[in-house]
This record gives sequence, structure tokens and C-alpha cells, in this order.
Amino acid sequence: MPFELPKLPYAYEALEPVISKKTLEFHHDKHHAAYVNNLNNLVKGTKFENATLETIIKEADGGIFNNGAQVWNHTFYFEQFGKDKYDVLKVSSFSEVVYRDYGSLDILKDKFSTAAKTLFGSGWVWLVEKKDGKLDIIQTSNAGNPLRDGLKPILTCDVWEHAYYIDYQNRRPDYIESFWKIIDWEVIANRY
Ligand code: MN
Repeated sequence: MPFELPKLPYAYEALEPVISKKTLEFHHDKHHAAYVNNLNNLVKGTKFENATLETIIKEADGGIFNNGAQVWNHTFYFEQFGKDKYDVLKVSSFSEVVYRDYGSLDILKDKFSTAAKTLFGSGWVWLVEKKDGKLDIIQTSNAGNPLRDGLKPILTCDVWEHAYYIDYQNRRPDYIESFWKIIDWEVIANRY
């Protein structure tokens, strides 16, 4: 079975003005789609032809790893958005975990935003669950994914320029500050 590009779980204009329709058209229909196509071409005739993306992330190297991880990372990124879901965190048991490990959601957001602003070059910032259940914030370069290090991803921010350049040009900090307005905390809480 070839790998498939998942549909966006909302309309292309659903995240405006934080992320524009035009950005989603390029980011999903061009970038995400290209990773899927590249992966399908690269795995032909290899032991990863019928592997899951998770296995590819944990075991593959080179182009198969890069494209496989980027397929997974983008699906995970697009699935976590939805407007007006901020209040969900207040009624979720996940809020207790946030308060336990960071003291407040604002502190978590500050630390995550700093990691996203300071990541040099292309990559991803992640809120992860460690084996002991505690939360942590990590940066990965390029296609990097925390599953490779035995960590469970909970939330991610794509800081490749293609994620924000149409809407924010070089202003990565503005993209990251706005990013919080479209997080669906119900999705995030269910990942923990
Ligand atoms: Mn991207």
C-alpha cells in the first residue's frame, strides 16, 4: 500500500488570519504532498516498502527517513489546529499535568516559544511526554522526530520557513506568537 496524503481536517481558510489559505495550499498540497510522493518512490524495492511511518522514523536513514518523518510530522502538525478550543484545556485532566510540570500554561508557552524562536535553521519544536510521564520541550533539526529517541510527541511547531514565509516573511517570532491562537487543546490533551 503506498503512503497517502491525509486530507486537511478543516477548510483551507479555517485558520485565517493566523495561517492563510494560501499558506495551507502550498504547505499541504505542495510540501506535504511532495514528501509523500518522494517517500513512495524511495521505498520501492526496499525493506521499508510496507513499513509503517513509525518504523521508518525509528529505523530508516537518509532520504527514506527524511521524507517518512516529514510525512508524519506534517500530519501531526495539521491535525492539532482548530479555532476557539482554548477553554478546553481548563476542563481537561491534561491541565493538571501542565500545571504540575510548568506551573502554568503561560510558562509552558513561553518556554516552547523560546525554543521555536531560537532553533537555528529548519526544524521542529516539540512538547513531548517522557517515559516517566513528565513533559519536556525539545528541538529537532530538519526532519527530526522525537519517536526516534523514545519520546512521545504531544504538540509541535513547524519552523521551516515554508510554514510561515507567505504570511510572516522573516518574522518567525510573530508566527510563533500567533500559533497559540489556533491550537486545539482537546487534540493535545488526547495525545498525552
Ligand atoms: Mn512544513
